[in-house]
Amino acid sequence: MVEGELRGVIALDGPSGTGKSTVARRLAAHLGAGYLDTGAMYRTVTLAVLRAGVAPSDEAAVTRVAERVTLSISTDPAHQEVRLGEESVGIEIRGQVVTGAVSAVSAVPRVRELLRIQQQELIAGACDSYGGIVVEGRDIGTAIAPDAALKIFLTASSDARAQRRTSQDAAEGRTSTLDATKQDVDRRDRLDSSRAASPLQAADDAVRLDTTHLDVAGVLDQILELVDERELRGVAASPGRW
Ligand code: C5P
Repeated sequence: MVEGELRGVIALDGPSGTGKSTVARRLAAHLGAGYLDTGAMYRTVTLAVLRAGVAPSDEAAVTRVAERVTLSISTDPAHQEVRLGEESVGIEIRGQVVTGAVSAVSAVPRVRELLRIQQQELIAGACDSYGGIVVEGRDIGTAIAPDAALKIFLTASSDARAQRRTSQDAAEGRTSTLDATKQDVDRRDRLDSSRAASPLQAADDAVRLDTTHLDVAGVLDQILELVDERELRGVAASPGRW
């Protein structure tokens, strides 16, 4: 193992707009670890559901689509790629249509079961090849990696989350208004938190981190302190900010 690399799993959960993706990717790159974006997997299944002309609320039909889907995703933080069959769908899954339907699809128990199996295999593979992995989602600390070495639950005020999502949309060329984004973020969090199958929820042993007044570097500094407190790196990595 290279000096300073992560050993084990860091579970990063929380609602949308808390900065999870940016933080998780940078943390993984800094720690020489793998990275898994489980939200991208739910979005890809949702794209397949929509392309099949199936209503996201039709649980039986969604289940049939999910059972046929061939989904692959990379765990390299420097090269994120998600495929539906042979097709690269990383951009399409971030669009409004998929975003509007993903919470309904991800509430279907069989979808969660299928993705849980795939996610656990990806985590095991990344632990073999990288030594450790940062996994982001909604149920990582509770259902996917309940034995994770470190569990973080990110929160932020609803306004801050909507603002971040709107900026992210603009940076990636999608048009959205702050109001519409706030409504979408609140609606998805409500649905994700209230579903019966592995809802969005902090694990009992998760460390809660409010990112409302922190920038990405500030969040990363706090997480790295926890990584070092728990001695999760091979050897102390070189100091420096992000
Ligand atoms: O993280 P992201 O916003 O891309 O996630 C999209 C959606 O996927 C969430 O709103 C949630 O419905 C679902 N999801 C989930 N469990 C996860 C990750 C994402 O249900 N572990």
